[in-house]
Amino acid sequence: MFKVLKVDHIGIAVSNLEQAKKFYTETLGMTALGEEVVEQQKVKVCFIPCGDSEVELLESTSPEGPIAKFIEKNGEGIQHVALRVDNIENALADLKAKGVRLIDEQPRYGAGGASIAFVHPKATGGILLELSQRK
Ligand code: ZN
Repeated sequence: MFKVLKVDHIGIAVSNLEQAKKFYTETLGMTALGEEVVEQQKVKVCFIPCGDSEVELLESTSPEGPIAKFIEKNGEGIQHVALRVDNIENALADLKAKGVRLIDEQPRYGAGGASIAFVHPKATGGILLELSQRK
């Protein structure tokens, strides 16, 4: 059993994190949290809290990274939507049992120490869906 708790964040692929961050902080007046490089995903991220959810800006640290490839194919923009779940292991086991196409069958490290896993867009109506469990 697992429960979806809320929209955790919206992940936005950007070419230049500093420049993108300025729009949210200076133009919209939001407050950005610190930046973090997640080596496994070849990405530098910055979370910007927005009420009960967050905006996650993602800049690739390598031309081979998934964010660089996303931008090459689609341009900058929304790359994924993340839903917070109460138990990610149970969520993955349950979705697998239901035959849902998963990108990650095991949770992996996500920015901020979250446990995350991606569900394939073919299973979700066309969006890359991240499941996220925070400590
Ligand atoms: Zn994310």
